[in-house]
Amino acid sequence: MPQLRQNIITGEWVVIAPERSKRPTDFIVKRQQKSDVKENCPFCPDSPSYNNRLSDFDAENIYVIPNKYPAFLEDQTKCSVRAYKIEDGFYNTRPSSGGHDVLIIKEHEQNIFTFNEETWKDLFETAGKRYNYWRKDCNTEYSMLIYNQGVESGASISHPHAQIFASNIVPNHITRELNGSQKYFENTGGCVYCDLLRHELMQKIRVVAENEKFIAFTFYAARFPFETWILPKFHSANFVQASVELSVPLSQIMQQVIGLLGKTLDNPPLNFFVHDLPTAVDKSDFYHWHIEIAPRIAAYGGFELGAGTIIDVMPPEEAANYMRLTV
Ligand SMILES: [Zn+2]
Ligand SMILES: [Zn+2]
Ligand SMILES: [Zn+2]
Repeated sequence: MPQLRQNIITGEWVVIAPERSKRPTDFIVKRQQKSDVKENCPFCPDSPSYNNRLSDFDAENIYVIPNKYPAFLEDQTKCSVRAYKIEDGFYNTRPSSGGHDVLIIKEHEQNIFTFNEETWKDLFETAGKRYNYWRKDCNTEYSMLIYNQGVESGASISHPHAQIFASNIVPNHITRELNGSQKYFENTGGCVYCDLLRHELMQKIRVVAENEKFIAFTFYAARFPFETWILPKFHSANFVQASVELSVPLSQIMQQVIGLLGKTLDNPPLNFFVHDLPTAVDKSDFYHWHIEIAPRIAAYGGFELGAGTIIDVMPPEEAANYMRLTV
């Protein structure tokens, strides 16, 4: 029986519509391999990119370069681009400014499923340092660390890399999360994410991994089969602070959860992204930073695009069961 489920934070609805006896193996398709040749790889440390790296941000396993084709362009005139303009006497426009980093894992042969704890640690710590850098840029309203694994997830270059989008807007989905969690706080006096993780810890049906500082569970109103969230167990709105103080347990749970997804779904294409506060805000009683992991194993159809309402064929409780079974 299909069921409508509401995202407790944003209020958005999803449809959980289990397809008869759909198992993890049904999502495993022969994935097209793109050429993994190291030769002429634009990101290998012997490529010209390495000379363009931001050497202040070098780490053992990672280096950072500005994206050659930035979605948000660093603006040298600074702070002059906040205002909307009217184009053709009609449309609203605004320059797309901020910055766009590529965080490159040095070893070409690695992929998200093979990163060791040290690589994860370098990735999160370097991201935290870049967030701090963008925070000082007065054009930047928001920084988001994202990762694309596999062609179907949007990765155009096979060499492993993460990206940071530093934008002069607060992205739409973050605005919805901020508004929803603020409303929840006004109604209940609590953080919706803290309540959510307490509920998940009590119910235990969607929890897939846990350590002293973090919890991972499949999300109740999932938009993707096997969508998994990682949250700090104690209220924390600030990813930058956690990237320093909690980098070890964060790296451990990330490695563990990505490993579970990799085993259950045969190294699927996936994205992960960090959600935290806008750069101008340091603290919040109602917002709670987290990581969302979205395996990209089901394509959106016309209804998803037309309605903006997602139909997910894998109930999150079953997904969690499958993930726990792979241990
Ligand atoms: Zn390479
Ligand atoms: Zn909280
Ligand atoms: Zn989120």
